[in-house]
Amino acid sequence: MEKFKLGAKRPLIISGPCSAETEEQTLTTCRQLAAEGVVDVLRAGIWKPRTRPGTFEGVGLKGLAWLAEAKRETGLPIATEVASAKHVESALEFGVDLLWIGARTTVNPFLVQEIAEACAGNDVQILIKNPMHPEVALWAGAVARFVKAGTPEENIGLLHRGFSVGGANHLRNNPMWHLALEMQSLCPNMMMLCDPSHICGNREYLQEISQKSADLNYDGLMVESHICPVEAWSDASQQLEPKALGEMIRSINWRSTISDDPEYLQSLARYREQIDQIDAELFELLSRRMAIADNIGRVKRENDVVILQSGRWASIVDRVMAQAAKLHLSEEFVRTILEAIHVESIEHQNRIMNN
Ligand code: PEP
Ligand code: MN
Repeated sequence: MEKFKLGAKRPLIISGPCSAETEEQTLTTCRQLAAEGVVDVLRAGIWKPRTRPGTFEGVGLKGLAWLAEAKRETGLPIATEVASAKHVESALEFGVDLLWIGARTTVNPFLVQEIAEACAGNDVQILIKNPMHPEVALWAGAVARFVKAGTPEENIGLLHRGFSVGGANHLRNNPMWHLALEMQSLCPNMMMLCDPSHICGNREYLQEISQKSADLNYDGLMVESHICPVEAWSDASQQLEPKALGEMIRSINWRSTISDDPEYLQSLARYREQIDQIDAELFELLSRRMAIADNIGRVKRENDVVILQSGRWASIVDRVMAQAAKLHLSEEFVRTILEAIHVESIEHQNRIMNN
């Protein structure tokens, strides 16, 4: 079997159970996934980082033997999560082809350093998941530790599984796509994969999130699959049966990244020109708005009145928010823009008042 390399195939599809539970469950799931013919790498969690103690924490070493057997039978490379140098050593002993660092480990520079050192010199292929909380610097720092310790950039991939932020919507983890795109621009030579399972937390949304990642030019997916999802020992609500996984993967449209069709290129150029023009006007207008805020600052200073007039601000928010739907803008977007304008406006008035 040829050595597995990240970057050799796009889109790269990784699937398998959240956890290896029994030999039977691991092997049957892997066999059925291989039979679907859409999976490039088999995954299973052997050591599970769980939020609460006393819940299922993985089968440990014996699960590695099951994964190795799945690899032997199907001819597919295998992947598992590592959270310490010892895990790396054991996984490599059992011929694991691809390792990944989980979101709860990426947050910990001590562990990341330890794992990076254990990987160095072993020609390891590794995926680094985003940290639990939305901090791109920590994600980039984890990548940098691997590079510094000696893992070549082409052996590292990024895995986006969303961020644990309070007050999220119907999804288990908020994707905050812009942060993954920012990370991608920091590491332009690394594959960016999406883990829709941990973003969604529910199989109902997997297709939609997977397609969205494909539309954003991701390089592949890691999706959890279990022979009997409702009975899974971890993440029961987000796993798909192998057959459903196959259908889901086949339904994704991986659009091409470029086209040299002249008509397409012409329309694209025209729309981009319009966007650039509108951006210029937008900021021109914002600058005028701030100049007026400066004037308000001057009259408030002359009359010795405080900057913040909360009633006035609330009425601005109400008025603008009421327009959101009519303008086909989400309330969240409008609120974010308004808050940014408010902060800048107060900053302007503050400068005037204290000058
Ligand atoms: C997993 O992939 O099973 C897992 C534990 O994921 P995460 O680290 O993203 O929570
Ligand atoms: Mn899981």
